Amino acid sequence: MRLLQIVPLTVLTALGIGAACLIPSSGVEAARGAGGPASDEDAMLQAFAAVGPIDAHAHVYKNDPALAALMDQLKLRMLNVCVIDDRDPYGKGIEPQRSDVLKVARTTRGRAVFCTTFSPYDFETPGFAERTNRQLDQDFAAGAVAVKIYKVMGMEMRSKAGKWIMADDPAFEPIYKHIAARHRTVLAHLAEPDSCWQAPNPASPDYEYYKENPGEYAYAHPDWPSKAAILAARDHLVAENPQLRVVGAHLGSMESDVNQMAQRFDRYPNFAVDAAARIPYFMLQPRDKVRAFLIKYQDRVLYATDLVVMPTYSTESALKEWKETYARDWKFLATNQTVEYKGHSYQGLQLPAPVLRKIFHDNAVHWFPGIMGTGH
Ligand SMILES: [Zn+2]
Repeated sequence: MRLLQIVPLTVLTALGIGAACLIPSSGVEAARGAGGPASDEDAMLQAFAAVGPIDAHAHVYKNDPALAALMDQLKLRMLNVCVIDDRDPYGKGIEPQRSDVLKVARTTRGRAVFCTTFSPYDFETPGFAERTNRQLDQDFAAGAVAVKIYKVMGMEMRSKAGKWIMADDPAFEPIYKHIAARHRTVLAHLAEPDSCWQAPNPASPDYEYYKENPGEYAYAHPDWPSKAAILAARDHLVAENPQLRVVGAHLGSMESDVNQMAQRFDRYPNFAVDAAARIPYFMLQPRDKVRAFLIKYQDRVLYATDLVVMPTYSTESALKEWKETYARDWKFLATNQTVEYKGHSYQGLQLPAPVLRKIFHDNAVHWFPGIMGTGH
């Protein structure tokens, strides 16, 4: 979760209708049929909606019919993710977020799908795994299709003896086995972008985040485990549980180099990634390299945003941010038009339509079975 995501990443450049019409694979042309959209953003959103989009990682805790209405309009489904972090007042426990997410699921008539989590903090108390598995079964019965694990493993938690607790700690193993046996998926947000371990750099997409959240900034905590050690533990858990589907959140924290993801995809058939809050990292790498990567691994990358709507947030701002984010991301992935980010211009990837369909829809259906529910 990234609370700063409420600030729009970029302001979209308004382009003329003529330019948009030149892009055959985006569906913009079709979307410009009867009536026609009023703006470039509307055109992008119409093309986005036409693919039956699934945002595979969002945090919508505000129950507001206006958000449900936009989801209807965009034909959008999302994985609505709970996350426990004892440093965050709202995220200290599974409640109230579990109740909030279930309310949003009802209001959106199942479009916002429950992703549960569990508290890892009491892993040293007797009966931890049994207790956790019982809670997960209740959540699965309530509709949860996935279970989030979080970066507090490797970046915050230590044993009573002072040892850093990683995601592959034996204490969690019975839980991973249980999730696999129940045919659910683990959403693994482990580690952070490289910049978390590096000196402040205003050009980094995450500069503002660590400025606002110094407690999560590894560079300021040299005693923390290295990023390599955290990802090695993640890889170990993926390798040890070949029956468990693991989706690495935020490009699996391998955002700076698509080759790192390719290496894991080749090694682990049960591993995929979501692109939540990391689309800009695709812009920062060579266009041809990223495009070839997404075409080659078109079954392994899930579109996602990490959009956050806390109960106290303004619905109006959230609606604006959702539209801007979905339109910008569609424009970048589906068209060859220019997208602006942090004062620079990047040419869109113009991915082939069948690849877009996988990234925006099919892959979420495959990696999160149950996400389509029974309706829509
Ligand atoms: Zn998140």
